[in-house]
Amino acid sequence: MPELPEVESIRLSLTPLVLGRRVIGARLVRRDVMVAAGDPFGGLGRQRTASRRPAMPAPVSRRDLLEGLDIVGLERKGKQLAMIGRASDGQTSAIVVQLGMSGQLIHRSVGERVPQNSHIHAWWRLSDESRIVFRDPRRFGGLRALASHDDLLRHWSLLGPDGLNIRAAALASAAEGSSRAIKVVLLDQGAIAGIGNIYADEALFMAGISPHRKAGTLRPPDHARLARAIRGVLSEAVAAGGSTLRDYVDADGNPGTFQLQHRVYGRGGQPCLRCGTRLRTAAIGQRTTVWCGRCQA
Ligand SMILES: [Zn+2]
Repeated sequence: MPELPEVESIRLSLTPLVLGRRVIGARLVRRDVMVAAGDPFGGLGRQRTASRRPAMPAPVSRRDLLEGLDIVGLERKGKQLAMIGRASDGQTSAIVVQLGMSGQLIHRSVGERVPQNSHIHAWWRLSDESRIVFRDPRRFGGLRALASHDDLLRHWSLLGPDGLNIRAAALASAAEGSSRAIKVVLLDQGAIAGIGNIYADEALFMAGISPHRKAGTLRPPDHARLARAIRGVLSEAVAAGGSTLRDYVDADGNPGTFQLQHRVYGRGGQPCLRCGTRLRTAAIGQRTTVWCGRCQA
């Protein structure tokens, strides 16, 4: 599942291919992957268990899809990526892409084949005849149209500080007084944005902190060590192009290689790389968690 390093790798690989290009055509193949202005909270795609009378979808305009706009930036916060478009009148719009479990945002130059299968939910045609394709086989991801860059910043203010730049003070304020396990706090996007199961386990191992530890019991040196470990593991992973477990590829279709450097994630039952003790596994916050009972306290 794409976490911060994978989304950042997509941003870095996509930016030089699309920046300054105009969106000359856009198509939304599945309406329910898009949250548009006027849609119910959570969007239409989240209404699977809702009432007998599903809300009528608000129409998605060409402007919502950035059609006719120039792409002037790709921004990221946590696991969310936004394409920013600017119209000739100077007004901005944004589309936020959430990749969920299996989402991909792939760029195809003119003449390159677009993957032919049924999981393409939206695409954009650019002024150089290249395309951006949004695929999501498992459909936990989605798109959100925002009417301005200010609306994007308001939307992102619900997220905690970005994990790549997390400081001890921000981590302390997220952890202080909390009786939740620190692993659960790390996964809470409102506390810290961008960390999922892989990088939570890796950062806690690097910091020598047990995933079960109540967040409120961390002391200032723990906050500093954990903040450093989070920044370190996320930036190492960005440098390796992210981790590819199943579907993840960057905008050029290249997988990441950081999965080869995982120290604990996916290694339950194997020896700890630091002390040789067999790594333990348990569910914390419904997520499989791996840690060393000796190195992490
Ligand atoms: Zn160990």
